[in-house]
Amino acid sequence: MGEQLCYADAYARSVEALVVSVDAGDGGAPLVVLDRTVFYPGGGGQPSDRGLLLRAADGRSWTVRAARKAGGEIAHELEPSDDGPPGVGDRLEVDLDWARRLALMRTHTALHALCGVVWRDHGALVTGGNMEPGSGRMDFEFERMTGDLVDAIEDAVNRELHVGREVRVNVLPRAEAFAIPDLIRTKVNLLPEGIEQIRTIEIVGLDLQADGGTHVANTREVGRIRVTGYESKGRINKRIRIALEDA
Ligand SMILES: [Zn+2]
Repeated sequence: MGEQLCYADAYARSVEALVVSVDAGDGGAPLVVLDRTVFYPGGGGQPSDRGLLLRAADGRSWTVRAARKAGGEIAHELEPSDDGPPGVGDRLEVDLDWARRLALMRTHTALHALCGVVWRDHGALVTGGNMEPGSGRMDFEFERMTGDLVDAIEDAVNRELHVGREVRVNVLPRAEAFAIPDLIRTKVNLLPEGIEQIRTIEIVGLDLQADGGTHVANTREVGRIRVTGYESKGRINKRIRIALEDA
């Protein structure tokens, strides 16, 4: 199994690696597996990274347009090119599109802060979410949501971001994770039986969730958010949309 650096160090943006396998892929977009990578393969509402593979030996480079999990490995999907993919055993530099990744980390942490505030202040459970770099949405079981409440939520989230809460990554044995009452609300009990280790993201003092994504280390790095919209998806289910504002 290749080393998957994004889970332990979200700030790793570049690494040297060897090509382990190359698959022709669908539609001429080759899939490359490396012995280590900084790419996030997507999941939990966070899109996969984009970036570059660079072969120092001859200066050739390939654009990675997406990444995904394939048989436990992280596969890098290359932009199709006439010259063909790198070869097995090639030594490559692996570079993230860092501006995009950092925007996704800030957005993801902002969404967790939103979840934390909505739970703490209104007892509403999150049911889903999605994001792009710089904006995202979350769905809640939140029957009583109103425009006034949404304004108050925006203010409360910005206060929490501004105080500079530390964001911690922990990996816990399943039984230990299940003993944490806060994790139940994010439906940790829906995780497949086979998973023995549960990765959690904690915004210290505000939010704790089982999560596979990449986050900033402190809420101050997020800056501020603005609520850009909210809507009903039914009597109980409500959606809140946010965007990052540069501080
Ligand atoms: Zn998350």
